[in-house]
This record gives sequence, C-alpha cells and structure tokens, in this order.
Amino acid sequence: MLEVSGLSKHFGGLRAVHELDFKVDQGEVFGLIGPNGSGKSTTVNLICGLFPATGGRITFEGHDIGNLPTHRRLEAGLARTFQSIRLFGQLTVWQNLWMAQNAPEDRARRGFLKRWLGGSRAAREELGQVLAFSGLAHRRDDLAANLAFGEQRRLELARALAARPKLLLLDEPAAGMNAEEIEQLDARIRKLKADGYTILLIEHHMELIMAVADRICVLNFGQKIAEGTPAEVQADPKVRGAYLGSAREG
Ligand code: ADP
Ligand code: MG
Repeated sequence: MLEVSGLSKHFGGLRAVHELDFKVDQGEVFGLIGPNGSGKSTTVNLICGLFPATGGRITFEGHDIGNLPTHRRLEAGLARTFQSIRLFGQLTVWQNLWMAQNAPEDRARRGFLKRWLGGSRAAREELGQVLAFSGLAHRRDDLAANLAFGEQRRLELARALAARPKLLLLDEPAAGMNAEEIEQLDARIRKLKADGYTILLIEHHMELIMAVADRICVLNFGQKIAEGTPAEVQADPKVRGAYLGSAREG
C-alpha cells in the first residue's frame, strides 16, 4: 500500500531522516519506533506532505505521491494524528469531525455552504458512528477546547477516521494517556484493524506496540536499524543498544 524508498530529510546538517526504506502492506499494523529524535514524526510529516523531502520516493497504492500537496494526499486516503494535539478548539466535537469529513470533497465538488446546511443523512450517520466508536457521543456539542486531555486525544483519532482514510498514521496516540486509556486505545486499534484499516503506528509505549503491531521498523538517528516482527526486533541487540545508548531518549 505504502512504500518509501531512499527517503531523506535533512535540516541543514542534521539528517533527521536518512535513506529510509520500508513498505506497509494493506491491512497490517506497522509500527515505527525509536528513541526521541530518531526521525519518526519527520517520517510521518514527509509521507503526509507537511514539508518536502530532501530525497527519495513515496508511493501510495502504486502512485508516486511525493510531489502532491497535503490535501491531495488526504484525498488519496492518508489521514494522520499529531503527536501534540491540534484541534479546532473553538469548534464543537461534531464540527471538528464535520470539517474533516468534508474538507477534501469541498474543494473538488459541491459548495461549502450547501453541504453545511444540508449534510447528507448517510454522512451524518457515519459521523455518529465515529463519535460512538471514539466514546465521544456525550460530548458531541461541546467545544473541543473544553474536553479533557484523553478526550482530545480520542477526538484526534476520530477526526482522522472522519476523513475516511485507507491508511491511518498515528503519531504517539497514547502520549499522556493513563493506563486505562491506553488499554482502550489498544482495543480501538485492534477494532480498526479488524475493520480493514491499514495503520502506521508510532508509539513509545512498548507494551502497546509490541501487542498490536504485525511488523516493526526501528529508527535511530534517522536510519533504519532493524525491522521485523515484535519478537524479532525485541531480541535484536542493535535495538537494545539504541535505546540504552541514546543520549536523546526521553
Ligand atoms: P521523533 O519523532 O523520532 O522523536 P523527530 O522526527 O521529531 O523525531 O525529529 C528528528 C530530528 O529532526 C530531531 O533532531 C529534531 O530536532 C529534528 N527536527 C524535526 N523537525 C525539525 C524542523 N522542522 N526543523 C529542524 N529540525 C527538526
Ligand atoms: Mg515524534
């Protein structure tokens, strides 16, 4: 589904991502891990088109998407969450979801106002399901800014789902969550996988990623140092070395 090859992003002399290769197969949960500063978020930013790569290729469903603007990649089926929450705080939960559901289509098709006023029934039902799935139905009309932290994290995921993605990119979705919330997130990711989503998951909670990922790619200083099943990468001395040896780990 997704293939990156030779992907690089250099910030001046800093090689945030350097000649990275990996593939994500349809239907799998692909984990991307590594110490702090190893290039995980930069990789997701490159895939989603937040900034251009210094080099390399990004192919999604057989198409080179490396030069497409962000909204075209969203239309192609990529949706992501951010490591630090980015919601429209002064819009309600429902409005945040509605924006995500309709933003890509608006540019291509019908008038914004018409859709806002009308909003097809099927589309509203779909958002209702996303709300229920995310445990936010009771918060539907509350401002995003007024949600508790864990609820905001859930809304981030819900917003990505509202865009009807084929590939979900989740950048540390468990960051700041308590144990119970992480357990619920684990269950949600499994449900999404069972429903046919393909997921690229960045996570530093090892228990979570080892339990839900089919395969894992390990980065250190912007480069891949290991790839395999959770058991394989856990047993890899290079991986242990990277985590123990990294001055940047946090
Ligand atoms: P991770 O998500 O694995 O913690 P990042 O991808 O955020 O790592 O960062 C990788 C490296 O690139 C870090 O050294 C970071 O400081 C640097 N970096 C990330 N984004 C930028 C940027 N916009 N400008 C300059 N340096 C950046
Ligand atoms: Mg990061």
